[in-house]
Amino acid sequence: MSNISDNPLLQPAAANALPPFSQVKAEHAQPAMEQLLASNRQRINTLLTSINSGETPVSWDALVTPMEAWDDELSQAWSPISHMNSVVNSDELRDAYNACLPLLSAYSTEMGQNQDLYKAYKKLADSTEFATLSTEQKTAIEHALRDFRLAGIALEGDKKSRYGEIKQRLSELTSKFGENVMDATQAWSKTITDKTELAGLPDSALALAQQQAQAKEKDGYLFTLDFPSYFPILTYCENRELRHEMYKAYLTRASDLYSESGGDNKFDNAAVMNEILALRHELSNLLDFSNYAEYSVASKMAEEPQQVIDFLEDLASKAVPQAKQEFSELSAYAKETFGFDKLEPWDVSYCAEQLRQHRYSISQELIRPYLPIDTVLKGMFETVQKLYGINIEEQSQFDSYHDDVRFFHIEKDGQLIAKFYFDLYARDKKRGGAWMDECRVRRTLEDGSLQIPVAYLVCNFSPAVDGKPALLTHDELTTLFHEFGHGLHHMLTQIKTAAVSGINGVAWDAVELPSQFMENWCWEKEALAFISGHYETGEPLPDDLLEKMLAAKNFQSAMMMVRQLEFSLFDFRMHKEYQPELSASEKTNYIKSIVDDVRSQVAVVPIVEYNRFQNSFSHIFAGGYAAGYYSYKWAEVLSADAFSRFEDEGIFNTATGQSFLTEILQKGGSEEPAVLFERFRGRAPTTDALLRHCGISSTSASATKTGAA
Ligand code: ZN
Repeated sequence: MSNISDNPLLQPAAANALPPFSQVKAEHAQPAMEQLLASNRQRINTLLTSINSGETPVSWDALVTPMEAWDDELSQAWSPISHMNSVVNSDELRDAYNACLPLLSAYSTEMGQNQDLYKAYKKLADSTEFATLSTEQKTAIEHALRDFRLAGIALEGDKKSRYGEIKQRLSELTSKFGENVMDATQAWSKTITDKTELAGLPDSALALAQQQAQAKEKDGYLFTLDFPSYFPILTYCENRELRHEMYKAYLTRASDLYSESGGDNKFDNAAVMNEILALRHELSNLLDFSNYAEYSVASKMAEEPQQVIDFLEDLASKAVPQAKQEFSELSAYAKETFGFDKLEPWDVSYCAEQLRQHRYSISQELIRPYLPIDTVLKGMFETVQKLYGINIEEQSQFDSYHDDVRFFHIEKDGQLIAKFYFDLYARDKKRGGAWMDECRVRRTLEDGSLQIPVAYLVCNFSPAVDGKPALLTHDELTTLFHEFGHGLHHMLTQIKTAAVSGINGVAWDAVELPSQFMENWCWEKEALAFISGHYETGEPLPDDLLEKMLAAKNFQSAMMMVRQLEFSLFDFRMHKEYQPELSASEKTNYIKSIVDDVRSQVAVVPIVEYNRFQNSFSHIFAGGYAAGYYSYKWAEVLSADAFSRFEDEGIFNTATGQSFLTEILQKGGSEEPAVLFERFRGRAPTTDALLRHCGISSTSASATKTGAA
């Protein structure tokens, strides 16, 4: 047992201790997880037997307090493994991580399906103590019961077994959908040897295509339907025929028409999609919902399906006229510049890019010298200091896994309230993208003391080169503010119950509110005055550059918006309007009939008959966005509307900042987001601010309600 007692992941950590990164090795992961999962199973079992038999009277302290402690113990051991696997990956670490995943997923399925645990929570909800609990405690219990119910735990007999069959079949079908898309995508490629056919393509795209040709031992340039290969052709390539050919192949992937594009129809997803829809509908009926859209919103901020439809249609009614206008401008430009009598769908991205460059030639490289990392961080910390009265201090002494990592304390009124790691630069063995992850959650410990929240903030910026400091593009600046917004939501919470503390328990369609909200300061002159500063002269970002950026920001924003609305409405209506009584032929045509109807309502770009976009819409058929794609726009409305109060009252207004802090950031998932929003904004959210920020004139003067009435 010596290896267990030496395992740093199993050492009883002092309260608020940080992960022992420097001691953690891949070999520690699996033994630690196995031991903790086994002991958790045993402890939970003993506790539930005692509560459900009546031996231990049910209470918050008897049930939830120990459950949260054991859960936290597990996540504290897992957190450094999972984090290091993402940011300092190695073969050993990846193997160890992958070996633990099935153990953890089996455990979490088991807990979600645990009848005894459900009974104990129900007992607690029915107990006389419940009325005396705090709001956050009540919400935590209600969420737990809701999630048990949505996981089918209340079902019995035939219904229970049917539920299990449906879940099983859906998991096969959704994975089959993804496989078909992937196989269809990979089955198509095109090699071009004459470089003149590729005029207009940027060097990076040419280099990628050349590399792909070499990998297949071919001469010239190889293109595929993978997005990084496909996208530059549609956006930059002057060759109209090639654009057309690739567009058609891309839009017929995994459909009955793929063979017309040189692909194979065996990857057709039509039958898979129809079965997925039928089963999702049946599953929601089993759980007493009338359709899958209703099931989806049961755990979201939106209160009922019609509210989502009204929300999307209202945005559409305002954006479509402008989108039509933008499209006709683009058509006129294409005719004048390229002599295109008709702007075809495969011309749209190309002509838009040409027009964008023509109107707003602005390179991110011009911005970089004004955004050196230390000035930016200092400026970002000053921004939140002004808004929320918090002070952020860098620490030099801490245990780390890489020299790039920086570590900070957040203090408010002289008290340490949170800590975070910043891992800013791209490097080998680090996953791409940017994200915030939880290291420690804020909660009350068993001895009554407080665990302080800790966050990992990860980005992939270009590191310092040539003796210059690391310089950010403006896109990178907004990414930084975005992730920091998620971080503040996690770290500034005042909640003490883990299940609803910070970002935990926040509805999916509201969780992007604090992050998108923070991005706004990256576009404000008053903020850029100290967020930016030329790395040689200290001069802030010049006004003319900012003005150009602001103009470019809203280029074709209405066309972009109606496209998102098309996807959202299609996804939502398809799930909401499904009828199991349809005849076989109606079922076959059902999905296409919805797509066609939505397009007639909102699309401004011409649609070709062979367009089978839906057959590769993985977000909703293979991912977690079913009847939830609208969440992207929903959260944008919230963040834009929240920021509009700062526009009215001053972007550094202390009282407004304090109100956002206390009504939104500190509350985490402890109350309904609609309630929190309304308390902050003084009314339900409206779409006006988002439309204005996108440069879309809101034709109707009346504010349209999108949130809780
Ligand atoms: Zn985000």
